[in-house]
Amino acid sequence: TEMTMDAAALTPVMRQYFAAKEQYPDCLMFCRIGDFYELFYEDAILVARELQLTLTARDKEKKQPMCGVPYHAAEVYLQRLLRMGYRIALCEQMEDPKTVKTIVRREVTRVLTPGTAMDPTLGAEQSNYLASVYMKAGCAALALLDLSTGEFRATEFAGASAWAGVVDELGRVRPVELLYSSGGMLGGVNLAGESETSAGLEAIRTKTAVEDWVFSAEYVVPLLRNHFRVHSLDGMGLGGHEAAAVAAGALLHYIQKTKQGAVEHVDGVRYYERSTCLELDAVSVRNLELVEPLFSGESAQTTLFYTLDACCTPMGKRLLRATLLRPAHELVEIEARLEAVGEAMASLRLREELRRSMDGVLDLERLLARVALDSAGPREVMALAGTLGCLPGVVRAVGAFEARRWQELGESFDALEDLHALVVRTIAEEPPVNFSDGGVIRVGVDAELDELRELSRSGRQALVAIEERERARTGIGSLKVRFNSVFGYYLEVTKANAKAVPADYERKQTLVNAERFTTPELKEYEAKILTAQERSGEIERRIFAELRAALLAGAQRMRATARRVAEIDMLGCFAHLAALRGWVKPTIEDSGVLEFVQARHPVVERRMEESGAGRFVPNSVYLDAEVGPAVMLITGPNMGGKSTYLRQAALLVVMAQCGCFVPAERMRLGLVDRIYTRIGASDNVARGRSTFMVEMTETAAILNTATARSLVLLDEMGRGTATYDGLSLAWATVEHLHDRIGARTLFATHYHELTLLADRLTRLKNLRVTVKETATGIVFLHTVEAGPASKSYGIEVARLAGLPAAVIGRAREVLKLHERAETQQVRESVAVAEPKMQMTMFTPLSQRIVDRLEAADVDGLTPREALNLLAELQREL
Ligand code: ADP
Repeated sequence: TEMTMDAAALTPVMRQYFAAKEQYPDCLMFCRIGDFYELFYEDAILVARELQLTLTARDKEKKQPMCGVPYHAAEVYLQRLLRMGYRIALCEQMEDPKTVKTIVRREVTRVLTPGTAMDPTLGAEQSNYLASVYMKAGCAALALLDLSTGEFRATEFAGASAWAGVVDELGRVRPVELLYSSGGMLGGVNLAGESETSAGLEAIRTKTAVEDWVFSAEYVVPLLRNHFRVHSLDGMGLGGHEAAAVAAGALLHYIQKTKQGAVEHVDGVRYYERSTCLELDAVSVRNLELVEPLFSGESAQTTLFYTLDACCTPMGKRLLRATLLRPAHELVEIEARLEAVGEAMASLRLREELRRSMDGVLDLERLLARVALDSAGPREVMALAGTLGCLPGVVRAVGAFEARRWQELGESFDALEDLHALVVRTIAEEPPVNFSDGGVIRVGVDAELDELRELSRSGRQALVAIEERERARTGIGSLKVRFNSVFGYYLEVTKANAKAVPADYERKQTLVNAERFTTPELKEYEAKILTAQERSGEIERRIFAELRAALLAGAQRMRATARRVAEIDMLGCFAHLAALRGWVKPTIEDSGVLEFVQARHPVVERRMEESGAGRFVPNSVYLDAEVGPAVMLITGPNMGGKSTYLRQAALLVVMAQCGCFVPAERMRLGLVDRIYTRIGASDNVARGRSTFMVEMTETAAILNTATARSLVLLDEMGRGTATYDGLSLAWATVEHLHDRIGARTLFATHYHELTLLADRLTRLKNLRVTVKETATGIVFLHTVEAGPASKSYGIEVARLAGLPAAVIGRAREVLKLHERAETQQVRESVAVAEPKMQMTMFTPLSQRIVDRLEAADVDGLTPREALNLLAELQREL
């Protein structure tokens, strides 16, 4: 009705709109007007563009742009906007328009943001993290909450690189929304602005500033304590981690402020440390394609996650994904997992029983979150019960195993039988979707309810009797007793028969073809039936609410069980893969060794199998950080398999430390604390950054933080700059890794000059990818063997690529000339003992000076000219 009023009368609505907008300036304001959500002004223009809606105007001069979406279909539109990263406020009608004469009161009842709104289309293995960061002197904290499962954790980083730690973690976790203090500046980074930020931050579309005062211990500690109903946060590991508590508290404040209905299932926050796991920085996670393909848009089949995911449950999938990002770094933990995997691998029958037992297990954490919603109905509760019913079968299957980890999992497994029984006892076998249909609660649960149901049943029978009796009395065969929600029960007679109606009938309503009547007797039954129904509806609702409360009270237990199911599932998945693909148990030890024999790259191998592209050629590696060789320098032609070999080493380490068996004949691994990668072109190129700058930043990070227990992979370092610069940098980097860090290092390079380092660096060895030279060209064998590559084969590869024969021929000539000159030069420089001299001997800078000296006619120079030349040369240095 408001829609049709004239412009002057609209003002109050717009006043409400502006008041709401002022309160939530950073949100798109969805204003409920009748059957629509309307948007105005810039919001309308933006939303019309993003969602391809028609932009209209409220007034004739089109000064008030607006657009709208139907209330009933709003969900789809809201989800699309959230996925684009927008925040949305819902301004609802607080009164029934039918009952008020003047303007309906409107208020913002909910704020939806990417991190707080539940996206029903979210993939089961994905998490939907809302993150919050907080920085204080020398300490940076991060809190993460997945509202769809209730997972809530926080951590801290200390020292000079504290902020870098947070950014790195954000790059791995990839939250959809990030909260920060409205001060806005964190670690010198302006989170809100366009200015220089890191890739980890750039990837987060929605960054929300929260008022400064929220980020204080005085405010958040009581807030957290009240919400979790605990006296102290120490039990959650937050004691002594005030910054982490502040980050977590600000997050909780935000979800409360945005009025998310269902937060009861968020019932604890956990402090975690990154150091208990093999650390993978964001760059390596991306380079190694652990969970996402390197280039967005590429198929996910290139990821390790895809290759390893044979999990049966969404919890298992999520845990697998999280585990790949945080492999273990504790010997005991890894061994416990490997032992369990080994046992389950050995018995096909028990393994299949275990995996089958998880068939009907749905996403426990998300079912729980859905039950926590105010709108949760019988369907949601039944879905949860269905999953609870499967749990005893899972424990039984686990009980068949003897390994320590299986025993622990079985013993600590809470099968939640009481909760399952409670639902089954309470809810009818096939409950209706809506409460209004009645019959949600099982017969026998509540005596009064059963009585009321009996009453309305007998009432309805009485109505049938009345219908029959009245037909006989009036002689109107078509007379009917009917019900509708506005008029209640009535007797309906067609127009033609209206004359035959007896005098005690009371007219209720006249239709085109029929008349409707009532009688005192009918009214009496009507009252009886309706009160009985109303009352039983109330009772059903009350019992249902009690049931939901009882289930939610068990939230913590359910989440603990969900964690166990996830681990059982993941270990079962590892066992399944090991058996299916013939993988072996790696030997894990506390040493500097990395050895694998006849190993394969799990992802490439599987893809080759699937596409029928031949067989993967197995390769071996032996590295020992303690006694050497610690650094392997790998040369050979492009396309020879160098990158694959490097990645394979890293993936096998990740898998082994996750507790997974590996594709190799055997593998021996001294625990790795961090994996560093600097591999190939990164997608930063697409973002218009200098590849070289990115490469050097990544290399700097490696040289500054790698330890003797790290695994370092460097591929084609120095490619982004002039040959001499690149070679010098690569050279110095290898020396530094060899002499100072001593990390296990695989260094693939196209600088042949580097292979000469093997003469001088005792713990460095050359490897080459092999090719076979045939009459028609070269064939890649993809095997890796000792020794430097004899030549780069770049020209051969170019020929394979189809460069014209003339160009190839000329390139061969040029190459010959260069090789002769260069080898000579480098040999000389290596022969000179002092590293400093070596570096300058073949740089173009000194070469220029040498040239000038050579060209100078010393006998023909005046003393003054000689001095000038000397000064000039000095300036050039
Ligand atoms: P490089 O880094 O030396 O240029 P890549 O590692 O990119 O070479 O490998 C080039 C191609 O060879 C890839 O398509 C890869 O699938 C294939 N390849 C690499 N290693 C092997 C192997 N061991 N067995 C079979 N094919 C391989």
